Amino acid sequence: MFSQKLFELQRLGLLRTICDRTPSTGSRIVVEGKELISFASNDYLGLASHPDITAAAKRAIDEFGFGSGASRLLAGGSVLHRKLEETIARFKGTETALVFNSGYAANTGIIPSLTGEGDVIFSDELNHASIIDGCRLSRARTVVYGHKDTAHLDELLRKEFLAVGSGKGNLLVATDTVFSMDGDIAPLGEIYGLCGKYDALLYIDDAHGTGVIGGGRGALAHFNLLPEPRIIQMGTFSKALGSYGAFAAGSRDVIDWIANRARSFIFSTALPACAVAASLKAVELVEGMPALVGKLRENRSILAEALVKAGFDTGESETPIIPLLVKNNEEALAASGYLRGKGIYAPAIRPPTVKAPRLRIAIKASHSEEDLNALVRALTAFPFSKNSSS
Ligand SMILES: *Cc1c(COP(=O)(O)O)cnc(C)c1O
Repeated sequence: MFSQKLFELQRLGLLRTICDRTPSTGSRIVVEGKELISFASNDYLGLASHPDITAAAKRAIDEFGFGSGASRLLAGGSVLHRKLEETIARFKGTETALVFNSGYAANTGIIPSLTGEGDVIFSDELNHASIIDGCRLSRARTVVYGHKDTAHLDELLRKEFLAVGSGKGNLLVATDTVFSMDGDIAPLGEIYGLCGKYDALLYIDDAHGTGVIGGGRGALAHFNLLPEPRIIQMGTFSKALGSYGAFAAGSRDVIDWIANRARSFIFSTALPACAVAASLKAVELVEGMPALVGKLRENRSILAEALVKAGFDTGESETPIIPLLVKNNEEALAASGYLRGKGIYAPAIRPPTVKAPRLRIAIKASHSEEDLNALVRALTAFPFSKNSSS
């Protein structure tokens, strides 16, 4: 029934296949028996295999068992869940926090708990799919603004502000902090200013900011913005923190409301205690090891400079995520295949994940200078039809 559709995807260079690794360490990934230098992992700090984290998870399995047995509201959560929430609140400087089962569950649960019919959401055009789905589930009207275009956002907010007045509907601006496929950073200072001007809530998805920017504390720290009730922060344990799960952080009444309304929180089994223990340890490590976050930033600078010197366009990337745009899906696949032959894993990213096909390079703190050089050498040798949009 679907074979024709699958064939069509293949014809368009859009067929996706699941790639499984065997045990891999550090900056290496082992796929189909071959060890490759990985430029595909969001485990930027290498915490996923950090011995303190795996030990904490093992201890929690011994103490709590594996499965959690029920949702948080039915005591499926543990004292570790609570401790993680206190730790995140401290880490993010908020009154309190709430753990979610994944970033996807957080965005699709929190956004509909904050907005509904009669409200208006302003969403950056490059926001993560889980924000888009959260907006759809909310039944609020969603207005998409140009990527990081604060003049456009200002204009759209003004229009809606005048239309709804200070009366009924809520306005909410939702944005990724670090955009996951372009590695650029939302201008949060200006966006926050607009939220104040038009009495809008600000919802930020700090999935790729947490552990990466602001000395590891994330986007608000990066911009020297202080948490306040108008700002609701979401972040994940699944990227730089090397664990699994997500959180909302904000003022007590907002977080209590989310716990009472977010369906992905209420109607889903709590995270296993071992995942929570791993997240707890990861936050402690990031707080205690600023040098690790510094090393990631340093590797990022080395590679970005080398790429620019070699004639590549790294777009507006300011983070360990560097996009290299290519002509079409076929070229993305060909370049990725070529790199693989050279011992480098950097998968092609194609629609619908992004509009413009690309290689997405993700740098890790554990990449050696030789790893970075190997990537630049291989990229330089590949016959890109347009030198990666430069
Ligand atoms: C990865 C990601 C998510 C989803 O998080 P998971 O924990 O993987 O479900 C949400 N938002 C952004 C911006 C992401 O990059």
